[in-house]
This record gives sequence, C-alpha cells and structure tokens, in this order.
Amino acid sequence: DADVPRPVLDVIARLRELGHAAYLVGGCVRDSLRGVHPKDFDVATSALPEEVQRAFRKVIPTGIQHGTVTVLAGSTHVEVTTFRSEGDYHDGRRPSAVSFEKDIVKDLSRRDFTMNAMAWNPVGHELVDPFGGQEDLKARLVRCVGSAIERFSEDGLRPLRAVRFAAVLDFTLDPDTQAAIPATLPVFRKVAHERVREEFVKLLLSKRASFGLELLADTGLLDVFLPELARADAEAARLARTAAASAPADVEIRLAALLADLVEPQGAEEIGVRLKFPTKVIERVRLLVGLARLEAHVGDPDPSLRRLLAKAGLANIEALTAVARARVQARSPERLAEVEVLIGRLLALAASKPPLTSKDLALNGGAIMAALGVGPSPIVGEATRFLVEQVLDEPSLNAPEKLKELLGSWMKARGS
Ligand code: ATP
Ligand code: MG
Repeated sequence: DADVPRPVLDVIARLRELGHAAYLVGGCVRDSLRGVHPKDFDVATSALPEEVQRAFRKVIPTGIQHGTVTVLAGSTHVEVTTFRSEGDYHDGRRPSAVSFEKDIVKDLSRRDFTMNAMAWNPVGHELVDPFGGQEDLKARLVRCVGSAIERFSEDGLRPLRAVRFAAVLDFTLDPDTQAAIPATLPVFRKVAHERVREEFVKLLLSKRASFGLELLADTGLLDVFLPELARADAEAARLARTAAASAPADVEIRLAALLADLVEPQGAEEIGVRLKFPTKVIERVRLLVGLARLEAHVGDPDPSLRRLLAKAGLANIEALTAVARARVQARSPERLAEVEVLIGRLLALAASKPPLTSKDLALNGGAIMAALGVGPSPIVGEATRFLVEQVLDEPSLNAPEKLKELLGSWMKARGS
C-alpha cells in the first residue's frame, strides 16, 4: 500500500468521491502481494470512459473503444479502464464485442489467471479476490480463471502467457491449466505472431528461461512457432536452452545463444521474420549466429582476429563474446579458459582501434584516385580492397605515405 504512488491514489479517490467504484487491478496487485514493486499501476472503474474524461482535467483517450483513458496526474500517466466483460471470441484472437460493466467481479472474471484477477481498493483497504488468487500466489501456481479449456479457446495467447508467467515468476502450472494447452493448440496457431513474440521475449529474458523453454516444448507450444528448437534432439535442445539462459538478459544475445548451434544464419533470419522481430534485431541475430563459434579461433594469429573484428563490426564485439561464452559454458566448459583468453585478445585488439574497413584507411577515395592517377573507375575499388587487406595484416601500414608506396608496387605488379 505504501507502494501506491500519490497520483494513482488521487485518481482512485476522485472517482470514488464521484460515486464510482475504482480499484487497482491486474499485475500491480499481484506484484504488491508478492512483495515486488509493480512496474505500472492500472486502475479499473465502474465509471464510463466519458465520465472518466469529465472527472479529470488532463486526459488522453488512449483506447476509448476498449474503455481505456489515460489520466495525466502530474508527470504520472494513469491508465483507467472501465469494467468490461467480453463477448464471444469467434476466432480465438479478439472478442467480437466488449461491454461495460458496473461490477468489479465481472471485470475480474474475464481476466486470464487467478493471480491476475484480483482488485485492491487502496482507499478502503479492501482486496477483491473471487477466484483464490492469493492462495495460488502462495502455492506459486498459474491457474486459469474458470475452465482452462474454455479460457484458452477464447484467446489462444493465454497458454503462452501461462508459461511466460511460470518462467518469469518461477511458478508451476496448475495441472488442469497445463493439460488444457495441448488440447487448445489449434487456437494458439491462429494468434498474431507479434503477440507471440512479445510473450516469448519476456519468457526468454526471464530468470528461469530454460525452464520456460522446456515447458514450451512439453506443452507443444514451441512446435507451433519455433519448430527448429522443438524438433531438435533432446540433448541439442537442452544445450541450446542452457546457453540461452546463461547469457546476459538481452533479446539479441539470448536469441543468438539459443539458435547458434541449431540453425544457419539464414535459418535465424527466417525465425526472426516469422516472429516479426524488428529488422535491426533480425540482422544482429543473424550476424551473431554466423560468428558465434569463437572457439574455432582459439590460437588464431592477430590478422585473422582482426578480420573477425571486421566481419562482426566493433559495435557487436561485446554481444558476440557474450554469445560465445554462454555457448561454451553450456557445451564445453573445459574449453572456457582458452576461449576466455581468445576473448581477452579480441577485446584488446578492438580497444587498439585498428583499421578494419575502407573508412578507416589513412587515404580516402580521392587520395587513392590521385595516387593511382585515375578518375572514378573499378580499379579504385580493387585498390581499396587491396589496401584494407594490407592494413588488416599490419595496422602500422595505415599511414598516407606507406599506403601510397603500397599502391605503387600494387600497380607495378599488375603491370598497369
Ligand atoms: P506484466 O508485469 O508482465 O506486465 P501484467 O499482469 O501486468 O504482467 P499485462 O499483459 O500487462 O500483464 O496485462 C495486464 C492484466 O490484463 C493482466 O494482469 C490480466 O489481468 C489482464 N490480461 C492481459 N492479457 C490478457 C489476456 N490475454 N486474457 C485475459 N486477461 C488478460
Ligand atoms: Mg502490465
């Protein structure tokens, strides 16, 4: 209670003064009861969206059709949503209609899990918990509100949310809830990939990512959106999960650690596209998957390590070493020491800022043309690539006079 920010309390108090019911609902109630500071505070009220708009000076009609109004209270944004019940779900994706309700219990009964279906009145200090959410929180159980089969058939995303919450909170699934997942997979198949990705990312970044991934496989969910992992043999899948879970909690790093030993870069790209990840994420994961096997470079001479840096790009070195370390820890811990030595060498080389691309050359395009005595022509590109190879072998050659000298002998050798 001490947790609830003043502006949120004020919003609830104001609605109550006007004779409406108003509560904190959902994740913030669950998290407060677990002793965790909530990340946001959602308010539910019997007031209609128009009434909420009239009750406050500054409001944004965020999602009026769904009954959500954002109240600006100082610098805080408070989402206020009118009690709702949902009509039929005809496609397993979204309700065909929502209707506004006056009763908090109606609103709570449309929610997914018992722990998410509690409401707290911070003015009167009253908890509304019609489905045994507190008890399930104590038992660390994810349990559907009502019939799991029905709830999963209404909205195919819910089974994935169940597994996501289990991974994030370190809970288990109530047996009936778990048993309903395989039975409702056809509904899960219809869910928009963006929604799947959002929940999957939360699972992947959770403390118990490995457990979550295993539960996804056991329930059949994984086969629907990540068959590459679902169909891997048991040991390969276990290693992939362990690698992902031991990597730093970053989407690109964990995805790459998960996929690097299961698919080629092209396969990683296909997965990214399928799950509608942003292009930037897809490109980075593709790159990381392609270069992840750093253990293959143990003992390589500096020039080949500089070529590796050039392929990765300096901006990706930290991520790449994190992926490699996680994979090696999971797959061949006995090689970790030598891989750490390699990583140390790579980081030291990177820190010395060696020339890696044509942009780093001490001669720019114009200077190269002048030295060759030519205008723009294909030979300039060839000469540039030659110089880049030279400085990758020996960075100290990256000085204007030395590069010009190299260009001179290159021209002679070509006989031009
Ligand atoms: P998090 O801390 O991860 O944000 P949350 O409980 O706030 O957890 P949200 O996805 O933000 O989760 O949803 C807010 C609330 O809305 C949930 O607590 C739940 O009561 C309800 N809810 C969200 N998605 C669904 C769904 N697909 N079906 C039923 N209820 C849902
Ligand atoms: Mg939330």
